[in-house]
Amino acid sequence: MALRAAAGGAVDHEAVASRARDLGVMGWVRPTGEVHAEGSPDAVEALIAFLGCDDAGERAKVEGHEQFGIRGVPAGVFVVQEHQATAHHYDLRLEVDGVMRSWAVPKGPSLDPAVKRLAVQVEDHSLGYNDFEGTLGGGGVIVWDRGTYEQGGRVAWPEALERGHAVFVLHGEKLRGGFALQRTRPAAKPQWLLIKRKDDEARPGTDIAAERPESVASGRTLAELLG
Ligand code: MN
Repeated sequence: MALRAAAGGAVDHEAVASRARDLGVMGWVRPTGEVHAEGSPDAVEALIAFLGCDDAGERAKVEGHEQFGIRGVPAGVFVVQEHQATAHHYDLRLEVDGVMRSWAVPKGPSLDPAVKRLAVQVEDHSLGYNDFEGTLGGGGVIVWDRGTYEQGGRVAWPEALERGHAVFVLHGEKLRGGFALQRTRPAAKPQWLLIKRKDDEARPGTDIAAERPESVASGRTLAELLG
């Protein structure tokens, strides 16, 4: 069975997720207190009781989760900077603990869940660099996309990044919805894959990097900047 319930306010979402896993309950929790729980009736009811809700929750459709996840943890900002250097690439940067964790994505992000894009982890950048757009060392940089994002997944951040599997939801102008970063090769510059998750924001068969080349800051393309 599946139940939806909402605690009166913010909850310790990591404690709820931990309890859910102990009980063998599937589903998810948001820090706002919303919970989706599915599994055996006893276990689901035990989790709802653990939440301390006044009501017993409402019946919901089983979503078929394989593990209990945390959703909707506001994490700060993200930016994607298109960068013409020796090689052309896109720098995906996610705010984590006061710095911008960064990956160079040669082909750029995709909204097609069937596309896995190589993302090479590079050095952290400062938040102050997020707005940079201009010429740089014979090449140039434009702010290709930006917005806020939420951390998600079974494991809390930054541990999820250290373990090599991190899921997150982007709220950008071009990039929206769930994404995953999966590390495939630990090295001095670890290699990851950037993959769009299947959700309402997925756009199979498209290539957003080619379709929307313009800066979200200035409207210029990188070619126009370098022209
Ligand atoms: Mn770069």
